[in-house]
Amino acid sequence: MYLNQRTIADTVRCSGIGVHSGKKVNLTIRPAPKNHGIKFIRTDLPDCPCISAHFSMVVDTSMATVIGSDGFIVSTIEHLMASFTGLSIDNALVELDNYEMPIMDGSAGPFTSLIKGVGIKDLNAPRYFFVITAPIELEKDGKSVGIYPYPSYKITCTIEYEHALISRQSYSIDLSDGTFEDEVSRARTFGFLKEYEYFKHYDLAKGVSLENVVVVGEHDIVNEDGLRYKDEFVRHKILDCLGDFSLLGMPIFGHVVANKSGHAFNHEFIKEFFTQKDSWEACTVNDINDLPS
Ligand SMILES: [Zn+2]
Repeated sequence: MYLNQRTIADTVRCSGIGVHSGKKVNLTIRPAPKNHGIKFIRTDLPDCPCISAHFSMVVDTSMATVIGSDGFIVSTIEHLMASFTGLSIDNALVELDNYEMPIMDGSAGPFTSLIKGVGIKDLNAPRYFFVITAPIELEKDGKSVGIYPYPSYKITCTIEYEHALISRQSYSIDLSDGTFEDEVSRARTFGFLKEYEYFKHYDLAKGVSLENVVVVGEHDIVNEDGLRYKDEFVRHKILDCLGDFSLLGMPIFGHVVANKSGHAFNHEFIKEFFTQKDSWEACTVNDINDLPS
């Protein structure tokens, strides 16, 4: 785990379309100084309003994670946020000229490659962590999320679908082992053929296509090239969880365990997290050996 704050070493740009809006959007990610955090700027609006990527700014979690304030929103931030967390980037300024982030290929792979392409800079200032000291758990309607003391940042996700191509899948990633880029960031969003046809028919997810979502048919994967990983579905869930938990605003020393959770339930858990202030400490970490076991 990196104990110092980091930012992207240089400005990067990309363009794409919003998966829900279908609208073209240009994205610029700029380096930012220590203690700045991750902020989004809407350059298409008067005065270019700015918003922090923080759970207190979340206004919708039904289809994607949407932050907003004072009449403007930034939608579908979770995959870029997952890249920032996966690469241990604390500070960046993200500019976009529409209300929804580009979906790219449905994963965080393109963002991760862009950032890795210019490199990451150490800011010579300590990171503030949420160090988990006692379990926090939330359970509802067969879903559960828990967070437990752990000397690194680990996420374990389990999903269960009544579909032979998915059924039950479980996956864990420890962010200190450097596997995020290859094993998780390239896992794409998925949906079922019936939903896909419904969205297309009613023009709901205007930007959705086989270029940015894995479509699961009754007996096979509709996308010509199939899956990137046999268990791409649960790996994508890990990505979404990394994005959702990044909205705590600080990195975590702990183990997140999510069963059948999604954006909405993760967000509910984060609210619970802040009611259980005896179960964590917000602090810098000088030595990993000092952490609670
Ligand atoms: Zn996702």
